[in-house]
Amino acid sequence: MPRYAMVIDQSRCIGCMACVVACKRENDVPPENYRTRVLEIVQGTYPTLTTEMRSELCNHCDNAPCVSICPTGASHHEEDGTVQIDRKKCVGCKACITSCPYNVRYINEEHGYADKCSFCQHRLREGKKPACVATCVGGSRIFGDLDDPESEVSKILRRVGHRVLKKEVGTGPNIYYINQYPKRA
Ligand code: SF4
Ligand code: SF4
Repeated sequence: MPRYAMVIDQSRCIGCMACVVACKRENDVPPENYRTRVLEIVQGTYPTLTTEMRSELCNHCDNAPCVSICPTGASHHEEDGTVQIDRKKCVGCKACITSCPYNVRYINEEHGYADKCSFCQHRLREGKKPACVATCVGGSRIFGDLDDPESEVSKILRRVGHRVLKKEVGTGPNIYYINQYPKRA
């Protein structure tokens, strides 16, 4: 069984939002909601400013509070390590939304269930990559199987320093951020 993860090379993101548009189209995301977003974060004091392009989405956490708090079992881990939502079991109580430290969930107001990034589970089952990865023109989003030592994500994480968001909260995120894509061997 694979163990899916995503590596995001922030140095390759040009902020074009193609990933955001592709995700919305692929997953029929309502106009007011997002499964992924790209933030332009400016830090420092003028004239010494730095800009960080940061893609954010569900981290498919190993210790996911959204799973442990869900009263119906709608939010759950699959065997491939991803966190998914069984829409038929979801009662729309929003407990998962409150528990998530990353603010990546929302309620689909039309249908009443919680929703978020699924790593495009329907595409994975067809052997395709998530829509955001397939669309990323800069090659900033890299997706693969951490249990395969020869996968691109495994190789990158062995070779390049990386970080996860809010490591201190102990959720065990599976989205890894790097700032320099390594040269291909
Ligand atoms: S990022 Fe939030 S919604 Fe995604 S698995 Fe972690 S706690 Fe759950
Ligand atoms: S909104 Fe749905 S998925 Fe979230 S905790 Fe409630 S029942 Fe579970």
